[in-house]
Parts: sequence; structure tokens; C-alpha cells
Amino acid sequence: MTESEWLACTDPKPMLEFLDRHDLLDDRRQRLFDCACVRRAWHLLLDQRGENAVEIAEKYADGLAHIAELRDAQADAFAAAQQVPGTPNSYTVLAAAAGAAWEFRSGVDPVKQAAEAIAWEGLTEKGTPARRIAKVKLAEERAVQAGLLRDIFVNPFHQMILDPTWLTPDMIDLARMIYDKRSFDQMPQLADALEAVGCTKELLTHCRGQGQHVRGCFVVDLVSGKEGYQERLDGVIAKIVVGGMCHTSPSREPIPIWVVQSRKGSDFTYRHT
Ligand SMILES: [Zn+2]
Repeated sequence: MTESEWLACTDPKPMLEFLDRHDLLDDRRQRLFDCACVRRAWHLLLDQRGENAVEIAEKYADGLAHIAELRDAQADAFAAAQQVPGTPNSYTVLAAAAGAAWEFRSGVDPVKQAAEAIAWEGLTEKGTPARRIAKVKLAEERAVQAGLLRDIFVNPFHQMILDPTWLTPDMIDLARMIYDKRSFDQMPQLADALEAVGCTKELLTHCRGQGQHVRGCFVVDLVSGKEGYQERLDGVIAKIVVGGMCHTSPSREPIPIWVVQSRKGSDFTYRHT
């Protein structure tokens, strides 16, 4: 996959495979992406157990829920999927919610299930005309999902850099509030705060653009300190980076890192010292 293909891609599957192949697919952000996709089908969840599975999965992503809670939430949502009668997609959407509460990412694909649930919304017949409509809606939803993936994983061919001297306590509080309350309508205010301290245009463009922002949005993560690697020079944080060269530390804490990078075609080489 090339950079232009990444930016234009309308299917999250090859994008996820690309990230995985390059060891850029960390559990936290994949979880948040799965949850964001299922949240788009929130109105189709006919049972509280489905909502609970997604909420627990999001907490688990940030280290705020125990693995036992995750397992219970998934089992409850799967049970609900078997029990809830209703539209043809009522099983699919609950299975998607259960799938989002994964311990290991295998089995049910919550991203695919969520897209299918949305594609079949309002369609009750399984005849040819309905299948045709569902096919078009499925492609549209997969394209939306690809956009969400770019919100979270940004552009793996390009690093986004945040100068730590730009960060102010108010700005960090704003980013954390946006994340906690999902008030992504306040992204333009975050852009204003970043612009006032001389932030680069590409971060501002992201905040002010038309694309949807979700938990895991790379700008919110960078500013709030949830993601990104700190590069240190002589013990001083020189810059905070997210992008192709960044791995997420298992402890979810930014780790001191000095990245040496080079790029050959679509392959990256790097080393940490
Ligand atoms: Zn965003």
C-alpha cells in the first residue's frame, strides 16, 4: 500500500492489514476503532447489554476496566444477540458490540458486523432489490470506517509532530474533556488554542476539517498525552510524535525514545536507542 492508496482507501480491511504488517496496530487504538464503528450503529442496539459491552471495551482500552469485566460484558452481549427478536440486523449489531469487547482480536469482526448492520437498517426483505441497496450502503459505511481509521492511525507514511512547548494546561484540559465527554464538536476550539501557540498547519487542518473525530483521534491523543512518543534530547522532551515510526508502549505511557528512521518504498526501518 502506498501513501496515496492509504489516503484514498475506502475499505478498512487492507488498511488494518497494512498496519498489522508493519507492527503499527496496537491494542488500544484497534479497540477504540472497533468501538467507534459499533457506536455508529448505536441506535440499532436493542439491548442494554450491547451498549455495556462497548462502554466496557472503551474503558478497558484506557486501563479503566478489569479483564473479568470485559469477559462478562462480551458474554452478556453474545447472550443478548441470541435472545433479542426483531429486525434482521438485531443479531448482527449485538454480535458487533460483543465482538468489540474482545480479549484477543479473533473470531467475530465487529467492524464488518457493524457495517452490515447499518447496511441492512430498514430493509426487511432479503430479496434482490434489498440486497442491491444493502450492497451500496455497505460500501458507503466501509468508506466511513476507513475515514475513522485515518482519524485514529493518521498517516503511517508521515509523522505528525507536536512541539511540547506548545502545550498549556488549559489546552491539555480541553483535549481531555473532549475525549472524556466525546465533545468532538469542540475540535475547532482545540484548533484555535493550538494556532495561538504557533502549531503547524496540518494539525489545525485535521481539527477543522469535515472528517468525523472519535475516541483515539490522534490530535486529541497527542495533546492529552494518551498517545505519542516523546523524543528526548539530553533529557528534555524535544517533540511528541505520532505516525509511522511510533509504537505504543505496553504500559500505555509515552516512553523516552530516539528514533532513527529511513524509508524504502513502503517499508520502514527504524531503531530505538
Ligand atoms: Zn480527529
